Amino acid sequence: MRDSNGLVVKELAIVNGDNDKSSVGNFHFCPPCAGSQLPLSVRKTNYWVTCNLHAISWEDGYVQYSRLKQILLDVLPNNFFPFAVYVKGREKCDFLSKLLQGAYTVSDLDTLSCPKSSDLPLPSPLRSCHVHKAIPDQCPLVKCYQYINWMQE
Ligand SMILES: [Zn+2]
Repeated sequence: MRDSNGLVVKELAIVNGDNDKSSVGNFHFCPPCAGSQLPLSVRKTNYWVTCNLHAISWEDGYVQYSRLKQILLDVLPNNFFPFAVYVKGREKCDFLSKLLQGAYTVSDLDTLSCPKSSDLPLPSPLRSCHVHKAIPDQCPLVKCYQYINWMQE
């Protein structure tokens, strides 16, 4: 989703590692401001995305938005540097690079020719968040596993 300044994270999924010992983080963020404060054009775009893509509303979430950076720093491994963080898409890559201020190397899977999640097989077992049980292919957590499986091919 977006606000007047750009990207707003509503769901964050982090899978740390690529084996049975991997740790998983999944967070649903409250909106950074009331929806009524957004320009109408932004509200319309967010509404379209809610209805047609991920089914998460602007008002959804249970984690305060101001905690986003600290959660990333807590969940990402910090015992050795530089640690590679992979994300899908230029905008998300830029967003995380800026937020983490060079503490991690953030790489865009698109530059590694990673296919869209819709072109990748669903992972087994299928682990989605509680919001996306009915539409697991829209869950960032499921997509994490799809991308990890692709990277291991
Ligand atoms: Zn989800």
